[in-house]
Amino acid sequence: MAEQKKATASESGRKKRVSESGQTVVQAKSQGSATGKRIGAVCLWILAIAFEVLAILVLTKHIEITFMSPLVAVIILLVLDFACVVGGSMLWKKANRIDPASEKNKVKFWLWNNMGLIVTVFAFVPFIILTLMSKEADKKTKGIAVGAAAVLLIIAGLCSIDWNPISAEEKAAQEGLYTDAALPEGKVYFTQFGKKYHLYEDCSHINKSDKIYEVVAGAEENEGKACVDVAIEYGCDDVCKTCAGKFEKAQGEKAADGN
Ligand SMILES: [Zn+2]
Repeated sequence: MAEQKKATASESGRKKRVSESGQTVVQAKSQGSATGKRIGAVCLWILAIAFEVLAILVLTKHIEITFMSPLVAVIILLVLDFACVVGGSMLWKKANRIDPASEKNKVKFWLWNNMGLIVTVFAFVPFIILTLMSKEADKKTKGIAVGAAAVLLIIAGLCSIDWNPISAEEKAAQEGLYTDAALPEGKVYFTQFGKKYHLYEDCSHINKSDKIYEVVAGAEENEGKACVDVAIEYGCDDVCKTCAGKFEKAQGEKAADGN
């Protein structure tokens, strides 16, 4: 505990440092609360649907646009629709890392991890159907509008799916195994696009990256959360196998010394 405090006192003031092997090590910050992100996601999704409705109204000539071609206006509205859907999904996925759903409730777990995809469908499919059915727009306009909406639908859908969802149970298991007090270096590490967090700075999977992130046990940046929790918030849903092996071995040696 005393050792942990010392590490905190010397590290927490520093946001950036250079490791022994010359890497830039940036201290990661907690991503805050899940509730704010879920509210933000829902607001963006509502905005997305509003842009879709506007696009439908312009295309079906219920709203007259005089200062630009209606087709251009429709495309702009669809792009705004797309940006809001994807932005909302990103926030939602972040919230799922902070506060994952329990696997025990299968319906909620599925819904929580696919909410972005469901909203994407609602944000583009009605537009596509209504455009195809519309008698107001000409064939060419319909073709371009539907094509654009279909492309945006596919990209937004792919961006919105939570490809590797984490459950509350999985998160709790890691919290239990790699508590701040148990961390061999009092820190966890990860890279910008890495999907795993590491327990050792010299791990071969991260020591070739120019820049790595670290979460320091007890640092105020963690907002009272465990290091592992902060790493999970950055999308590192699991521990690196190499680090876990080294950790287990060290634990075994510790136990053997104890006897
Ligand atoms: Zn590792």
